[in-house]
Amino acid sequence: MKKALLGFAFASICIGGFAQVRKPLQFCATPPEKSSWLERFQHAAILRPRSNEPLYVPLTIHLVGTAEGEGFIPVSQVLDAFCTLNQHFLQANIQFFLEGGIRYIRNTEFYDHETGEAGFRMMTQFNVSSTVNTYFVANAANACGYNLRDPADAGIGIALSASCTGINTGAWAHEMGHYFSLPHTFHGWENVEHNFSSPAPLFVNKIPVEMADGSNCRTAGDGFCDTPSDYLNGRWYCANNDLSSIQQKDPYGISFKSDGSLLMSYSGDPCPDRFSTEQIAAMRAHLEEKRPDHIKALPSAPVSPREDIQLLFPVPSAYVATHDTVGMRWKKVQEADGYLVEISVVPTFAFTSYSYLTQDTSLMVHDLKPSRTYYWRLRPYNRYNTCRAYSMVQSFITGTSVTPTKEISRLREAVIFPNPVVAGLPLSLDLDSPGQQEVRWSLTDLAGRRISTGVLSALPGTNRYGLDFPPLPPGTYFLQLGAGKDSWTSKLVVLP
Ligand SMILES: [Zn+2]
Repeated sequence: MKKALLGFAFASICIGGFAQVRKPLQFCATPPEKSSWLERFQHAAILRPRSNEPLYVPLTIHLVGTAEGEGFIPVSQVLDAFCTLNQHFLQANIQFFLEGGIRYIRNTEFYDHETGEAGFRMMTQFNVSSTVNTYFVANAANACGYNLRDPADAGIGIALSASCTGINTGAWAHEMGHYFSLPHTFHGWENVEHNFSSPAPLFVNKIPVEMADGSNCRTAGDGFCDTPSDYLNGRWYCANNDLSSIQQKDPYGISFKSDGSLLMSYSGDPCPDRFSTEQIAAMRAHLEEKRPDHIKALPSAPVSPREDIQLLFPVPSAYVATHDTVGMRWKKVQEADGYLVEISVVPTFAFTSYSYLTQDTSLMVHDLKPSRTYYWRLRPYNRYNTCRAYSMVQSFITGTSVTPTKEISRLREAVIFPNPVVAGLPLSLDLDSPGQQEVRWSLTDLAGRRISTGVLSALPGTNRYGLDFPPLPPGTYFLQLGAGKDSWTSKLVVLP
């Protein structure tokens, strides 16, 4: 992609503390400029949804950790958040489904990034086209999250801080609202300091201030007439009836309180849970006009994974002789696209020792401790529905034996791309791994000279790495990967 950075005047625009990680996070760092598409839409359109047919949108989840493979947000937390996202979009009849597996990115700079410029580079490097890309990082530009838009007014992607992600938070839906063109309900007030006990000015940031009676609703504030006036630009917590405890005064001195049920406000969880009818009309029209590539027909109606989940092995309270490798099996759950297997040393799963994602109905778990009681449970999910549906918890006890060495296939598939690549451009590697393991790699030239080597740590499922080679002169190279006794080689062509 071209250097389109100029289009992103990326400012930290939101005031107000929310979650504490190492420093207080702002709620949202989406640039405050209103979408010009939305301006035209609000002036031209009757703001009712044109149709109410379901729109299914593919979504790619990227979990970003450090270069050492640390710090990934727990998958269970992401599955919870995805379930909540779809609940928030049910009223809009927009439903997201997971495209491909969950992807892992190891990159310390992207894991903890303070600017949207770094986020832009992350998204340009790793985005999967024709899907909504969401990145879970430790620090998303010092905010709970943000969305980036390209100069053509279409979303590029969403980044979310792990600490703001979970089952009871509207942060993902809020950023998705931005992705589909929505401004904040307090649009114009971003970064403005104001004493709310005095009447508001007629304009903030050159944008007309919305009157409490809504008389100028189409031209003021967010431009929607069914979102009441709201000036609260810092995180606030709603009182009774979803309303703010903070009174505000419009330019005529009329007092009002903000509506905390709206996801595009800054009201804190769990109050925000809805979009207005006009906001929904705008999101659906934006999706159809700006992102038609995002709308997919469904081969069949989405269904939930059934909840009768049967764990087959280890049987309850089993003693398994080994600890370095334990095979686990369960009965296939109808309609499940994948399973999250969790292992803990406590039956409450207050913390999880191991968690694995797999599409199979069996799993080899490595490196448990000898003579320990472990508890395990299974969470099936499918692409459309990742809401909680855990199996019963079962226990087993490990022994002291070590499994005799035998060949287990340790590499399933690896793709290096782009290939051919133009000299100097970044390269990525997708690696499909059956388990958690170390993968050695080495790059050699046509003459067999070793140019670079290293070790990657892989998690079960699809792993995506940015490959950091010294600049490669044009020519032919071979990338060799090895895990256990498995090896895999790919030719790489570097163009001038
Ligand atoms: Zn926002």
